[in-house]
Amino acid sequence: MRILFAFFVLLFPLHALAGLKVVATVPDLAAIAKEVGGDKVTVSVMALPTQDPHFVDARPNLALDLSRADMLVLVGLDLEIGWLPTLLTGARNPKVQVGGTGYVDASQFATLLEVPTQKIDRAMGDIHPGGNPHYLLDPKNAVRVATGLGDRMAALDPANAAAYKANAAAFATAVDKARAGWESSLGKLRGKDILTYHKSMVYLATWLGFSVPATIEPKPGIPPAPAHVVSVLQTVQQRSIKTILQEEYYPATTAELVASKTGAKLVRLAGGADFAKGQTYKARMDALVKAIAEAS
Ligand SMILES: [Zn+2]
Repeated sequence: MRILFAFFVLLFPLHALAGLKVVATVPDLAAIAKEVGGDKVTVSVMALPTQDPHFVDARPNLALDLSRADMLVLVGLDLEIGWLPTLLTGARNPKVQVGGTGYVDASQFATLLEVPTQKIDRAMGDIHPGGNPHYLLDPKNAVRVATGLGDRMAALDPANAAAYKANAAAFATAVDKARAGWESSLGKLRGKDILTYHKSMVYLATWLGFSVPATIEPKPGIPPAPAHVVSVLQTVQQRSIKTILQEEYYPATTAELVASKTGAKLVRLAGGADFAKGQTYKARMDALVKAIAEAS
């Protein structure tokens, strides 16, 4: 038996058994990549759902994953600019460097919002020059990304092209069907004003028809100073804002203060799919929609 196994390993080196090795920067992308790749890929993720994806610790094991990867899937639009380039340099893997066969910037597949039309500068905060990078909260964009990933996986691994394309199509069918339910659960948000911590809900707002007249951060990436908190409080009172949405990885102190002074309800949302526990994109959105619906 042992000899047979040794023979098998010789015939099929381990990397061939594992299929395509995919590294995704954020949990939502990892979940989509896993659903599209199925059993033909192994997927690892760099940021945890409890970590702000703009600021991820460049731990050495992440560079190791990258050094062995066949494909890197990133959000793009400078979301990972603060930490990914260093890791890519350390990984020394030409396949996943910018322009490499396995380098996949998923923003190319998405329909983007807040693409600046004017010249931007640093004083505007952590503005993303290509548009707002939080596009995976729009299920239509998730479907577009799944389709794009299916095509790229098929190109890298033509033997399994049919499986990737079928999985991407199944993802699209399931998410499109679920989207109708999400829209009816959150239909009551249409026309409402909602406060968010970061400018991360613009795709959700555009999709569901609510407005975000203020954010707790004065500018993306800049924590609120007292004067800004005062103006946020005024906005919440003047517009009778009832809901505050913020990801769990942002500090809650200011939102809790605003909630206690105005009666608005703070909803803390998971920052991404719980990929370690195998949560799918659809299950992640189910949970997000349920959390918002219960509080609104
Ligand atoms: Zn952001």
